[in-house]
Amino acid sequence: MIKKGFIGVLIAGFFVGGLSGQNLQLSESYAPQPRVVTPASCDRPVPPPSDAVVLFDGTDLSAWVHADGSPADWEVADGILTVKPKSGSIQTKADFEDFQLHLEWSSPVVVKGEDQLRGNSGVILQGRYEVQILDSYNNPTYVNGQAGSIYKQYPPLVNAMQKPGEWNTFDILFTAPRFKADGSLHSPAYITVLHNGILIQHHVAVLGITNLPLPAYKAHGRGPIVLQDHGDLVRFRNIWIREW
Ligand code: MG
Repeated sequence: MIKKGFIGVLIAGFFVGGLSGQNLQLSESYAPQPRVVTPASCDRPVPPPSDAVVLFDGTDLSAWVHADGSPADWEVADGILTVKPKSGSIQTKADFEDFQLHLEWSSPVVVKGEDQLRGNSGVILQGRYEVQILDSYNNPTYVNGQAGSIYKQYPPLVNAMQKPGEWNTFDILFTAPRFKADGSLHSPAYITVLHNGILIQHHVAVLGITNLPLPAYKAHGRGPIVLQDHGDLVRFRNIWIREW
């Protein structure tokens, strides 16, 4: 009886521990708040180095399509790309594996909404793993959903936001996950992010595809860069990538 009871406690403990671990990663966590770090101005664009693949140089969206393959129809004007709300996310025609990605983005000049409904977009790596874009300047939300979070997984180390309307940079280093022949995970994806030149994610091991009910991986190969249409007028410029 004692032995059975002990095993029962062990099983119950494992079960509860397992669930709470998953809930911890999946739930919307509100503390601790990443401290605010004021970045230097990023108003000066960072153009691509000589070996980069240019994804957006300010002129057109020839490198992008919607998920159904139709031409990307977000607005391009004055060298700037702006989300066209309700038109759907856009993705690169090309697929990528391990890379360094640079992009510049700006929250809408007119501040509207709050929490997750203020300047929401996202850059979704290999079409699966979202680095959140949000107006996180004086805009409390769950910390693992603020700008620079690995969405619903890792809050940023600090809040390095520029004011709405000013330009932010993301420099993202991505190591793709690797899978065994049977489709099971060999090694997870790793993400490092500099936000306005400030380290906010340091080689974090991604738990799985964003927005699944539970963190999980499903075997895949190369994938596109996706920019999310979340209904807000987020702007982009200077998007380039280097595979390594
Ligand atoms: Mg988003």
